[in-house]
Amino acid sequence: MTERRLRLAVPNKGRLQQPTLDLLRNAGLMFERTERALTIPVRNVDLDLLFVRTEDIPEMVADGVAEMGITGIDLLAEADLGLSITTELGFGRCRLVAAVAEDDPAQTIDDFAGRRVATAHPNVTSAFFAGKGLEVTIVPLRGSVEVAPRLGLADAIVDLVSSGSTMLINGLRPVVTLLESQAVLVAGIEAENGRARDVEQVTTMLKAVVAARRKRYVLMNAPAAAVAEIEEIIPGLDSPTVVPLAHEGMVAVHSVVDAADVWDVLPRLEIAGATGILVLPIEQLIP
Ligand code: AMP
Repeated sequence: MTERRLRLAVPNKGRLQQPTLDLLRNAGLMFERTERALTIPVRNVDLDLLFVRTEDIPEMVADGVAEMGITGIDLLAEADLGLSITTELGFGRCRLVAAVAEDDPAQTIDDFAGRRVATAHPNVTSAFFAGKGLEVTIVPLRGSVEVAPRLGLADAIVDLVSSGSTMLINGLRPVVTLLESQAVLVAGIEAENGRARDVEQVTTMLKAVVAARRKRYVLMNAPAAAVAEIEEIIPGLDSPTVVPLAHEGMVAVHSVVDAADVWDVLPRLEIAGATGILVLPIEQLIP
C-alpha cells in the first residue's frame, strides 16, 4: 500500500489564515489556493495542505488526520489533547484575559468568585478558576463574548485581546491575564509511524522563515582600521564577513543583526566610520 502524502492542517478562514499562507509561501512551498477545497497539494514538496477550522486543528492532529497543524496556543490549551508545540510562529499574538465592566468594583481575580463568566474558552477558564480555588459559573459562547455583560448574560468575561481596543469600545476592563497566545506549529505522534523525518523537514523550513523574520542582513563599506569597532557593534551569527575592496585600506563588512536592533545599530555604525550601509531582509535562516 502506498503511504498517503504528509498533511499539514491550516486555518480555512479567520485571522490566522493569511499569515499562515504567507509563512508557507515564504518557506518556499508552492500551491494554488482554491476556495472551498478541503485539501490542496503542494507542488514541490510531498505535502498536502488540509484546510479546516482553526479550532478543529488540534483534534485533527491528535487523531492523526494530519501529521502537523498550525493553530493558536489558546486553542491548543482549550482542546487539552496533550499536543506539544514544535515551534512558535511569531504571529497571531494575543492574550486571554478575564475582564469586567469598566464601572465594576472587581480589582483582583478573587473578586470573580460566584460570578457568571462568559467565554469561548470554557475549559481553560474553568481550569484557571478551579486552580485558584474560586467557584464561578461558566457561560459558554461561540463568539461575541465581549457583549455578554451588556446583554446581562454574564458579570464578567474571559476573552482574547491583542491591542485591547475592542474591550475598551465595549466598556470592559481587563483584570488578569490567563495565558499569552500566538500561532504555533504542532505535530502529532508521527515519530511512531515513521514520518518523523518528513515532519522534521517541514518544521526546519518553517522555523527558518520565522528566524529570518527577526533578523536583517547589513552590508557596509568601511576603512579596514574600523573593523574591530564595527565587529563590536554587529558581531553577527558567528563573526562578520570582511572582504577587501578594490581601493586599498577599504573593506566591505557583512553581518546579521536582530531586526529590533537596526534602529540602534545604524547610527553607531556610521559614527564608527561605515558608509554605504544597506539593510536587507533575509528570507530563510538556519543558524
Ligand atoms: P479566528 O476565530 O478563526 O479568527 O481565529 C482566532 C484565533 O486567532 C484565536 O484563537 C487566536 O489564536 C488568534 N488571535 C490573535 N489575535 C486575536 C484577537 N485579538 N482576537 C481573537 N483571536 C485572536
